[in-house]
Amino acid sequence: MLKFCSNCAALLARRVPPGDSLPRYVCDQCGEIHYQNPRMVVGAIPEWEGRLLLCRRAIEPRYGYWTLPAGFMENDESTGQAASRETLEEAGARIELGEPFSILSVPQVNQVHLFYRARLLDLNFKPGEESLEVALLAESEVQWKDIAFRTVGLTLKHFFADRARGVFGFHAGDIPPR
Ligand code: ZN
Repeated sequence: MLKFCSNCAALLARRVPPGDSLPRYVCDQCGEIHYQNPRMVVGAIPEWEGRLLLCRRAIEPRYGYWTLPAGFMENDESTGQAASRETLEEAGARIELGEPFSILSVPQVNQVHLFYRARLLDLNFKPGEESLEVALLAESEVQWKDIAFRTVGLTLKHFFADRARGVFGFHAGDIPPR
């Protein structure tokens, strides 16, 4: 929900602009149309000798639940830079980025989540401000009920299934509303 124009501070109206098909926030003072589009969440699947680096969240939503390092992409960075930066911020971990592995649309929250495979470069990781703890977990140690987000759970399931098959693919999908 937007109220004021970020351009000129006038009150915004909401209507379908000429030639458009959806209602937008429109400024009748300066003419700016304020489009709202999905946001990218980018993360990594850092691997070390068959174990994956997961973080236990120190922030809401899903405080105390486990996730792969991931977060909102910033302006002026690439998706790969975002994955590496989030891994450093949340897990204090340095990675060598691998191939993109999963892209999952979450239309009910207007997000797209992208995860890269990655190789953990050393064991000097430590929880960042947004993490309670960081751990290298084997597949058998993953507590599925304690995974924070469905995109992370699905990405981990694809990862373990691909690894068992011996071939890593690329997985595109949608997370349906509950
Ligand atoms: Zn304006």
